[in-house]
Amino acid sequence: MCGIFGVCGHKEAARLTFLGLYALQHRGEESAGIIACDGRRIRHHKGMGLAGDVFAGDAIKPLKGKTAVGHVRYSTTGSSSTKNIQPFFVNHKRGHIVIAHNGNLVNTLELHKELEKRGSIFQTTMDSEIIAHLFARSEEKDCKKRVVAALSQLEGSYSLVLMLDNLLIGARDPLGWKPLCIGKLNGAYILASETCALDLIQAEYVRDVEPGEIVFITEEGIESIKPFKSRKHSLCIFEYIYFARPDSNIFGDNVYLTRKRLGEQLAREYPADCDLVMSIPDSGSYAAVGYAREAGIPYEIGMIRNHYVGRTFIQPSQFIRDFKVKVKLNSIKDVLKDKRVVVVEDSIVRGTTSRARIKAIRQAGAKEIHMRVTCPPLRHPCFFGIDFPTKKELIAANNSIEQIRDFLGLDSLGYLSLEGMLKAMMLPKDEFCTACFSGNYPIKLPKKLSKHALEK
Ligand code: SF4
Repeated sequence: MCGIFGVCGHKEAARLTFLGLYALQHRGEESAGIIACDGRRIRHHKGMGLAGDVFAGDAIKPLKGKTAVGHVRYSTTGSSSTKNIQPFFVNHKRGHIVIAHNGNLVNTLELHKELEKRGSIFQTTMDSEIIAHLFARSEEKDCKKRVVAALSQLEGSYSLVLMLDNLLIGARDPLGWKPLCIGKLNGAYILASETCALDLIQAEYVRDVEPGEIVFITEEGIESIKPFKSRKHSLCIFEYIYFARPDSNIFGDNVYLTRKRLGEQLAREYPADCDLVMSIPDSGSYAAVGYAREAGIPYEIGMIRNHYVGRTFIQPSQFIRDFKVKVKLNSIKDVLKDKRVVVVEDSIVRGTTSRARIKAIRQAGAKEIHMRVTCPPLRHPCFFGIDFPTKKELIAANNSIEQIRDFLGLDSLGYLSLEGMLKAMMLPKDEFCTACFSGNYPIKLPKKLSKHALEK
């Protein structure tokens, strides 16, 4: 996770970037940052917390220039601390490089060790910093070739927005795990993790940056190269299930419509004899619409979300997670009392969040609760940018479906099948990464690999 955004060729580049981060806030709530360049100087502002708080008041004003890069972060590699706030930038003998990264590199340890041996001194514990060192150390004279030289050494997932003076660069790893799109606004070019950020600033969607593509953007236009050997794609299917905003189009398809199809498929696989279908807001809501329609059961709002509380499982500590679950949702007793309900949930990671929600629905008077989940059981860690990295943390890795049902306090529990999930996608099924469900990792993982490897 993480949201990335960049602008080239607009006099309000930093303000547009702030709006872009606002639209991408769901991709990371820990910190936000913007770096702008006026052709000579770069200026930055970063902080812990939401974009709206970090850039409150006049914080944007000093960020002058027509090129800017922004980032909202949630940590995968590297702890949640101020030194790890992105965009990351370094000055080197030929200028500076600014990096905003969404994804997770898997050969971090090897590269880190190698670079330290050659004299690199690291300022942060982020895998993203490695990209800066590889770029700065490249012997290539041409800066575009230096970018290619750096990226060709990376293994794992990366969607990147880079800035070298006024040159804005977008790149996606050859397997294309994470989304990145190109937009246009009054002659200026935009890069964004999701199209919802283009919509907010009324930019026109041009196209996605393709897997393995690097785009070099100046005010004159875009130059595209594909320097890497083409590889089988591995688009993160979990973007559709949970992460991306439903009003975004990613990987060529709308997220809301995809979630609705997941719900329809779920109703076919796991029907339930019930009075109403409800969701756990917000991410389960769209699939619940599809489930209700396919099952012919009324869709009701059984829970209201307090929108002033952040997302839950992307917070790094269990204490904060537990606290937020309790204040986040309120059940509507008059809707739920004495009813047999189907609750559509997007996914179950640790189970603690779902358990608290089920308890609240039961306390509101529901007679029967049948949970339907819009993806298969999450049984395997993700090493490509999502924070469920150890089997220990995944309830489905350690328990049978019946044990999970019992733990959650449900009358029945049904997960969408892997086949069913892939059937709901518009792209061919072999385009997707499904490793967290199937255990089939699309790349060979290095032996030494751990979430906070650099900190141990
Ligand atoms: S393992 Fe799961 S969450 Fe991670 S990239 Fe693959 S599909 Fe996405």
